[in-house]
Amino acid sequence: MVCRERAEKEQLIRIVKNKDGEIAIDDTYKLPGRGAYICGKKDCIRQAQKRRALERAFSCKVEASVYEELQTIAEV
Ligand SMILES: [Zn+2]
Repeated sequence: MVCRERAEKEQLIRIVKNKDGEIAIDDTYKLPGRGAYICGKKDCIRQAQKRRALERAFSCKVEASVYEELQTIAEV
């Protein structure tokens, strides 16, 4: 889990790296591939982007658009 806070599972957003190496937001929690979780708060997503948390979780480059998409579905 990317965020250090504890969060209820339903607040978490799952992000997966699929077999093609693409990073996708998994709103079904069921996509195959390596997954990482981030909580659905704008602040945490911003922090994660600053710390390159997803890059580290997936060991690859993560486009800013992924973080932007996360921001659009964040709750607060
Ligand atoms: Zn958080």
